[in-house]
Amino acid sequence: AAKASGKNTFAVFSRSMNEAASSQLQLDAELRRAIRGDELLLHYQPIIDLRQGRVIGTEALVRWQHPERGLLMPAAFIDMAERTGLVSDLGAWVLQAAARQQAAWREAGLGQLFIAVNASGRQFKRRLLEQQVADALASSGADPGRLQIEITEHTLVEDVAANVGTLAALRARGVQIAIDDFGTGLSSLAYLKRLPIDKLKIDRSFVRDLPDAAEDGAIVEAIVSLAHALGLQVVAEGVETERQQAWLTQRGVAHAQGYLFSRPVPPEQIPEAIQAVAARWGQQDSAGFASGI
Ligand code: C2E
Ligand code: MG
Ligand code: MG
Ligand code: MG
Repeated sequence: AAKASGKNTFAVFSRSMNEAASSQLQLDAELRRAIRGDELLLHYQPIIDLRQGRVIGTEALVRWQHPERGLLMPAAFIDMAERTGLVSDLGAWVLQAAARQQAAWREAGLGQLFIAVNASGRQFKRRLLEQQVADALASSGADPGRLQIEITEHTLVEDVAANVGTLAALRARGVQIAIDDFGTGLSSLAYLKRLPIDKLKIDRSFVRDLPDAAEDGAIVEAIVSLAHALGLQVVAEGVETERQQAWLTQRGVAHAQGYLFSRPVPPEQIPEAIQAVAARWGQQDSAGFASGI
């Protein structure tokens, strides 16, 4: 009986392994089709200047409108795309779409907004990202000074020397660079001073439990003073509450992003989100919070 059940277990196990593998293959084929077709889209999440109560830019976040499975978030397909390498083609698509959006916003009088685009480690190989950025700028006529590239601290530390070359080349074109999910990648503080970068985005995990979590507060304060000493801008990710906003503002964090201000939205909803942020600050000023009274 033991032997029989062992065999069964093996059969079940191997069937489910096969199913998992074939569903990965199917997802890969479907994503390939999605990139070529028109199933991908970008949502944009406002990034706010906390001192002025103003939207200064947005982060482009990819979504997949899957014909059977509905709207998929990056968590459902980015890791697979990283493993298969398809994330490079996806990244090229995202850069093209974001650059076109920047040019369209300029036409619509929103040309001051920057757009931040997430880049994968795969795009840092063989100078691919430099070429993709150059192509996106050339074909859209977007303003390079209004394009930002986000590289996660994890990706950066995989090959600092090579990645620094790419970042420097992008910056030479006028594109800004942000380190995403900062504080989670164990980068050496020693080389931060030599990196060709413009801003640090404090990872959401350090913001989530503020202001009550003393250790997280200490980490955020350390990142802020480091950034200021190195002449870098700081953005807090994942701001969800007014208490977090007030705490961060008091510590000199100038920029923030989070559900408190706006979720990521389709581009046509950005003008509304800008209005909503302005209205919120109007209310806070008259209630006396944002001004610190
Ligand atoms: P990320 O670059 O750190 O983007 C921020 C993520 O946090 C977004 O999730 C955003 O919706 C979410 N977020 C923003 N504010 C809040 C908040 O207040 N609370 C909470 N709980 N979450 C918040 P999303 O859109 O699901 O993207 C997840 C990750 O997928 C991104 O993290 C980024 O690493 C990756 N990703 C998204 N778009 C792209 C892309 O075009 N290319 C690549 N390579 N990666 C992408
Ligand atoms: Mg990001
Ligand atoms: Mg992030
Ligand atoms: Mg993240």
